[in-house]
Amino acid sequence: MTEELQIKADQQLRRYWGFESFKPGQREAVDSVLKGISTLVLFPTGGGKSLCYQLPATLFDGMTLVISPLVALMQDQVQKLNDLGIKATFINSTLHYREVEQRLVNARNGMYKLLYCAPERLKTDLWKAELPNLNIDLVAVDEAHCISEWGHDFRPSYREIVPSLEPIADSVGWVALTATATPEVREDIINNLQFNDPAVIARGFDRSNLNWWVLQSEQKQQKVLQGVKRASRKGSGIVYGGTRKNCEHLAESIETKLGLKCRAYHAGIDTDIRRQLQQDWLDGELPLVAATNAFGMGIDKDDCRYVIHYEMPYSLESYYQEAGRAGRDGRESYAVLLYNPSDGVKAEKRIRDSYPRKQQLQKTYDALCDTLNLAVGSEMDRAEQVPLEAVRKRSGLPLRKVRAGLKLLDRMGVIQLMEYVKPMIGIYFQVSEDFVRRQVQTLDNEKKSFFLDTLFRQFGQRAFEEMTYRDLDYLKHKLDTTSNGVIKGLQVLQNHDHLLRYESTGEMPLVRLLDERVARLQFTRAELEKHRDNLLRKVEYMIGYIQTDRCREEYIRRYFGEQEVEPCGHCDNCMDIHEEPAEAISSSEIDTLKGVLSESPKSISEIKALTNWNSRKIKQSLSFLIREQRVETESDKYQWKE
Ligand code: ADP
Ligand code: MG
Repeated sequence: MTEELQIKADQQLRRYWGFESFKPGQREAVDSVLKGISTLVLFPTGGGKSLCYQLPATLFDGMTLVISPLVALMQDQVQKLNDLGIKATFINSTLHYREVEQRLVNARNGMYKLLYCAPERLKTDLWKAELPNLNIDLVAVDEAHCISEWGHDFRPSYREIVPSLEPIADSVGWVALTATATPEVREDIINNLQFNDPAVIARGFDRSNLNWWVLQSEQKQQKVLQGVKRASRKGSGIVYGGTRKNCEHLAESIETKLGLKCRAYHAGIDTDIRRQLQQDWLDGELPLVAATNAFGMGIDKDDCRYVIHYEMPYSLESYYQEAGRAGRDGRESYAVLLYNPSDGVKAEKRIRDSYPRKQQLQKTYDALCDTLNLAVGSEMDRAEQVPLEAVRKRSGLPLRKVRAGLKLLDRMGVIQLMEYVKPMIGIYFQVSEDFVRRQVQTLDNEKKSFFLDTLFRQFGQRAFEEMTYRDLDYLKHKLDTTSNGVIKGLQVLQNHDHLLRYESTGEMPLVRLLDERVARLQFTRAELEKHRDNLLRKVEYMIGYIQTDRCREEYIRRYFGEQEVEPCGHCDNCMDIHEEPAEAISSSEIDTLKGVLSESPKSISEIKALTNWNSRKIKQSLSFLIREQRVETESDKYQWKE
């Protein structure tokens, strides 16, 4: 960077952000981006990646286009920028067509420094028509691991970024950013974005102030209480409970048994309460939350002292991200994972069982489109809320398959799924409007009359023609009662008075079909299998992290592609803290295999002949050693690595 640019960058950092200095790697990244070099930024979560494109954006004449996958985060980022006095906006599928049009006109007139955009937006006619009019200097691809199907969050629309931006691709600067890129994902990003001789600016995944611990036990419940008791002396924390039920249960037992204030946080809790819990936790008023992984996204709390996982995440990417929320301020903190030896098998089984087959995927898709009243060949111009229960009924599949199917359709770029989980109530009046009016006037029971009248007003005429939905939170407020009260009242009106039919939908995800409805989905079985196997492989590595008897941080860093890594010296293995022995093979058995596999690659039957072990034992040992990265495998043969 010329000295002049460097000074300018420093000025912007102070002027807009009020930061005294760059975080490690940021200066190099900003420098590279300002020079117009294609840049890949690899910093861990919380490493300050946004600044690497936001700061250059303030120095370019034109606009920076930011591709980002998460609607919720987009809004948040834009808000933050506007608060800093940097003009920015976003376009995504939650906005009405008109609004998108307006924002693009503003963009053309140079009103924004940054424009955030979901990748599938780039394929719309509106975008294609506007593209030549936009003065874009830089394209920033955030969460770039979404490009790769080896990543933990593959989004096919991410692979269409370059083709969609074809007319400007060569004349703008490019930067891609991600927290979690294994070497193959890194390759994929560079190839797909057609980076020529890119600058790769990486910060290590070491967290010198984080103590990585794994506690293996059949009694996780007890362990979690012990863990919280010890850790809570040091400050605030998070317990990731996995399921809603676990979270409720954990929060309750922590409060009653330890007398520590703890609340459950998950998507089933009222939005307002959730927001409040989050704020209380940030302010330090609430020392602990028992949460599903819905908690933490985009939340910055520097002094979170510990993160305990009650359930094992399904990938190291997720684990690193969630556990990494502890100790952002650099002070000593704990990342603790509880593990029951049956958890690994259970995880693999769950992936296999819930993974939809091709035919189930088609059924889910058809049921979804039917619920949305969408004919083959027609499109949606914005996202809509869909009652999951209705999709389930239509598809005839169990709810968990429907959920898994929708998730997969999202991953495969067929739909965009935003899990706004707001409970809704649906009502369909079985009598005429006049009849309801008369009832309201003639009912003796004042409470009941008020209830019916309110429903009538809130649901309107449409509820006499079809099942019509309203927010449960809102209804509760209008009816001046609890959720239970609403349901009880509706039960009476349905079962006793036969005035209406009602449905209570737990989940109403916001969904948008990204293309027009097709009669047949185009996936091959092989594609689906490959995707599933990739998920299973990630679980294997996760189990490897748990079972390793070597340095845990080293294991993580190697997984993310770092080389020349030294043991951290502060994880439980390095410190030789062993509560229970790790389940593994003995060192003499390792030596036997080393002898057999060192010279040349061997197949399982060859190993069998040489060791006299049974196949099961051989497979188990090999899978352990592969995870330990001491054995490698190619076309059914195994070889010692060292
Ligand atoms: P990432 O995208 O890498 O996870 P963010 O860009 O969201 O990280 O930044 C994480 C946090 O670090 C934010 O709160 C941000 O304000 C803060 N931050 C970024 N750069 C700096 C800096 N140079 N000095 C102090 N804080 C910073
Ligand atoms: Mg980020």
